[in-house]
Amino acid sequence: MALKDIIGQEKALGILRGCIEKNRIPHALLFAGDEGIGKRLTAINFAKALNCQKAEVRTQNTEESPGFDFGTEDSLNSELFAPESQTDNTVPQPPTPNPLIDSCDACPSCVKIDKGIHPDFFLIETEGDGDQIKIEAVRQLEEALSYKPYEASYKIAIVDNADKMNSSAANAFLSTLESPPSQSIIILVSSKPDRLLPTIRSRCQRINFAPLPVEMMSGLVKEKYKKLDDEQALLLSVLSGGRLGYALNENLVAQRDRSFNIFNQMLSAPEDDIRDDKLSMEEWFDWAQLWLRDIAVFKATGQTAFLINKDRAGEIQDLAGKAALKDILKLARELYNIRVQLNFNLNEKLTFNYTSLLMRKRLGKTYAGKQ
Ligand SMILES: [Zn+2]
Repeated sequence: MALKDIIGQEKALGILRGCIEKNRIPHALLFAGDEGIGKRLTAINFAKALNCQKAEVRTQNTEESPGFDFGTEDSLNSELFAPESQTDNTVPQPPTPNPLIDSCDACPSCVKIDKGIHPDFFLIETEGDGDQIKIEAVRQLEEALSYKPYEASYKIAIVDNADKMNSSAANAFLSTLESPPSQSIIILVSSKPDRLLPTIRSRCQRINFAPLPVEMMSGLVKEKYKKLDDEQALLLSVLSGGRLGYALNENLVAQRDRSFNIFNQMLSAPEDDIRDDKLSMEEWFDWAQLWLRDIAVFKATGQTAFLINKDRAGEIQDLAGKAALKDILKLARELYNIRVQLNFNLNEKLTFNYTSLLMRKRLGKTYAGKQ
């Protein structure tokens, strides 16, 4: 694939193509946005476009090294998007970067990057969920970047889940960013950019990736899974929260169902071992908001037409019947607050026990006022 195959990230792609067109590539970029939204895929294909031997459009000064001064995201955007002439009455319009700026996806460089065997391309990633990026990996990267490119225009390093660098790795990384080796480009990819050191963030040009609109996703999902009807495609799109990678994951509905089982289990018989290995605590809390949303919507409207999980309308209706709207909304807020705290490594067992206590308090009792 190539940049042209990345779907729904026109703004990010426009900025990146603008960088190539102007031959002004920042030494360090931060691709920020939700999980499953195409950041890593874009980073790899941006690397291919930069080093492609048959790039369709290469503008002036390709000999020049990427001597780019670190500025802010705004300065990059305004520079790339500054209109040639502008009077007070005109609304600045971003120019459309040439869509032909892309990799050929077939030359030796493109193929080697895809296979992960290009000598000037490095991908650092974590393996398991709890894994950290350690200082050894950063040191190796630093060493690798210190040499001139072997065969490409740029040495390019992608650090996926960059927020998983532990503190010694992050500090070592900071020194690489402070004196970036020439002809090297580092792309940090993160769905939790707030967890990066502010000093790292401030040295990167940030490119934001946005969730896709539901209608667009629905069409894409149907294209991929031809057997789905409109309703099912819409369900997957809504459940995925605009993240195409999630929507195209066939396990999404299974994961949702698992989350609902846990939800019900916590209401009826809270036990210590309530968790499911295939669902992280963060994921469960995200799903719980979706269930509470539907319960509240049914409580407020009495209609199943507005539910996201229409296929579970019966159970949602039952739960809504047992609680007051104000308690449902209160629980949603409480669970949201716990979800925020999860960033601070809460004890899993205690958190689930406390949460199920809250759930039973708010949803467990029959609400006398309306029955
Ligand atoms: Zn190529």
